[in-house]
Amino acid sequence: MALRAVVVGGGIGGIAAAVALARAGIDVQVHEQAQQLTEVGAGVSLAPNGLRMLARLGVGEQVRRVGARYVSAQLRFSDGRALRHEPYQFTQPGRNIGIHRADLLALLAGQLPPGTVRTGHRCTGFRQDAGGATAVFADGSTATADVVIAADGIHSALQGFVVAPAEPVFSGVKAYRGLVPRLDAYPADTMRMWVGESKHFLVFPVRAGQLLNYVGFVSSDTAVRESWSAPGDIAALAAHFAGWDPVIGQVIAAISGPGGSGFQWGMYDREPLPRWSSGRLTLLGDAAHPMLPHLGQGANQALEDAVTLATLLGAGTSSADVPRALAAYEGLRRDRTARVQLGSRRQGAGWDSSGSQLIDRRWIYEYDAWAEAAARTRADSRRLGRPPVHGHPRTGGIGDKIGAEQLPGRPRAGLDSG
Ligand code: FAD
Repeated sequence: MALRAVVVGGGIGGIAAAVALARAGIDVQVHEQAQQLTEVGAGVSLAPNGLRMLARLGVGEQVRRVGARYVSAQLRFSDGRALRHEPYQFTQPGRNIGIHRADLLALLAGQLPPGTVRTGHRCTGFRQDAGGATAVFADGSTATADVVIAADGIHSALQGFVVAPAEPVFSGVKAYRGLVPRLDAYPADTMRMWVGESKHFLVFPVRAGQLLNYVGFVSSDTAVRESWSAPGDIAALAAHFAGWDPVIGQVIAAISGPGGSGFQWGMYDREPLPRWSSGRLTLLGDAAHPMLPHLGQGANQALEDAVTLATLLGAGTSSADVPRALAAYEGLRRDRTARVQLGSRRQGAGWDSSGSQLIDRRWIYEYDAWAEAAARTRADSRRLGRPPVHGHPRTGGIGDKIGAEQLPGRPRAGLDSG
């Protein structure tokens, strides 16, 4: 019988996990608290390590079509002068793609078998025994499976069943963020970041270049709500960046024009957690490792989690073996994501001191989470004297599409399907 999984949370992390699990032959259900799957009106930058995972999930080609690849990535001082940097200290030209968050979520959800997602289900509790794990919902209903995956975001209801509850950490920064239609004054296919004392401003294209995603980061003494629904104060944003490169002023002016949008939110993360799993329950995405966006890695790391977890659970894992597979998942993911969490804090401070400390991102971008997990399953097979698993007999597993999808800037060597 196929292994059964319950995913709690239908954001980018939870839906990507469901796609990966379904491709690995696992019977998966997603339970989302909202009445429908939705994403905020903003962009997300996909880096080579995340794009590699999206190719594994069968949407690499579509992401390239609906996203916007940056052929140029520029760092600037506040007055517009170029700041010298190495390509691997920022977004690597030609290897990153900006995408509207709703477009990414829709592409991923479109890969799921019909009926996989149950909306209007808010998880409030959890219990488990030797034979299974059960998520409990606010309406009194329950869902039982071999494994429960908590992908319920930074305020995860299920995290408290793995570690002692702790408050998110306010970063001292708030951000104004949204979308504007593309501007003549802004070069096509370009990501640009302006840095200065205590603030920085980022712009990149999404939706095949028709929209620009912008984020203005400013320091704030008071903890502001980490809410996407709080409308952005455009006058305050304009005041923060008065006197900076006039291109920024044009982006801000477009927010109140047709097709413009703006929100403001306080930026929070958490300290890296001491563990992610308890028996048949594990954490994924922001529920496991919420991070500041200064390395642009929150969603990318959630995609890595999704593929890693599905590769390990799909490798012939029996129900009794689930806790061992979750321990292996945590072993592969926890140190790496902790490093990215802490690196994101450092990079935020670096941007706000006029780009004085830039992190070498090669260890982030060049990583192939699937290859690491596949190597782990091969090693386990050897150790246990089992034949290696080459993907699920029905679905072919999550490595099979890779031959058809050439990844940006990634050597073909090492991309075999294990
Ligand atoms: P979420 O997106 O928070 O999804 C959690 C889901 O769980 C939601 O749908 C929620 O409704 C649901 N849920 C919550 N509680 C329950 C419950 N009790 N029961 C059922 N459902 C529940 N990352 C990048 O890689 N690149 C970027 O450029 C980037 N930019 C960012 C900019 C901003 C402003 C922010 C805030 C983040 C950015 N990130 C970026 C980070 C990235 O967006 C997140 O890391 C990623 O979306 C996390 O996905 P998730 O699915 O884990 O969590």
